[in-house]
Amino acid sequence: MPAKKKATDSGLGAFASDIDIEATKQLLDEINAPSQGLPWFKFESSEKKYIPNLVRVCPKRPDWTHPYQITPVHYLGPQNRMVICLKEAGLGDCPVCMQSWALFEVEEKKAAGQLRPKFRTFLNVVKINKDGSLAEEKVLVMGLNQMQFSGKRGAEHDWDEEGTLPLFEFFKKYGDLSHVETGRNLIIKAKMDASNPEFKNTLLMKFVVDDPSPFPGTSELLEEGLTTLSEVASLEEPAQMVALMEGRATNAMVLPAGSEQQALAQPAPAPAEPKSAFAAAADGDEEEKEAPVAPQTDPSEAQGKLREQSEDQQAALARLKAQQNGE
Ligand SMILES: [Zn+2]
Repeated sequence: MPAKKKATDSGLGAFASDIDIEATKQLLDEINAPSQGLPWFKFESSEKKYIPNLVRVCPKRPDWTHPYQITPVHYLGPQNRMVICLKEAGLGDCPVCMQSWALFEVEEKKAAGQLRPKFRTFLNVVKINKDGSLAEEKVLVMGLNQMQFSGKRGAEHDWDEEGTLPLFEFFKKYGDLSHVETGRNLIIKAKMDASNPEFKNTLLMKFVVDDPSPFPGTSELLEEGLTTLSEVASLEEPAQMVALMEGRATNAMVLPAGSEQQALAQPAPAPAEPKSAFAAAADGDEEEKEAPVAPQTDPSEAQGKLREQSEDQQAALARLKAQQNGE
């Protein structure tokens, strides 16, 4: 009798499996990725003039309603956390909206305004070159504020002034700009709004659409790269919203885009792109005279401003509480 003893002899065979090292490594890579946040699109802009950004809006996944997602959000606390407004989203009472109204009633209008819900629109986009080809194998999330996407409520839009219209007007006029076959490339010209010192980083935008053309990327790029737009802003319990508003919660910083705070999203300047081509594509000679300027945003300065804004809010909330307690 050969005394060759194998694990299977003792019934351990069922456990004789290999572990998938590769899958674990991939998971760890994802967890440890330098940016766990969203791949925000960062606009090139300047204080002096409009800088062109060439993009193509990505098509929606078949089960989504739109290639864009309009979301009512509040910006809360020192981290400026972007959280879905429960009231505007039709989910129930929103503690932040209630606080905003309470502040309004005691004439704390500035703090009340900061806490009011803002409508943000998110889109998946790819950067393109002047010739319409893909500039980067990456899908980015673009955030637009209400003025940029849909414009002032009830405003009449004049097509003689095409350059001044919000993006949604272009969807209305040209159909689905994101369509894989008949969509259109887009130039978004962006300039910092110097007229409003309080929101110095708010961008003024002008849109220009190209003739119809096929989507420049591949299905693999879309499959892997599209961000689920309904999940861009986070949904929090009312208690957590109050904690965030009062600066008690210290969640990881999630930064909004396309807003006055957008400059914070990726403080590092983008690597040198062939910007002169971008400029020429959008504005011809006018833009070619001087080299386009990358936005010179000082993150610490912007951070300081946000902190001030948050401190104003905290102070207003404290005064409101004192008043409610009959002091
Ligand atoms: Zn709300």
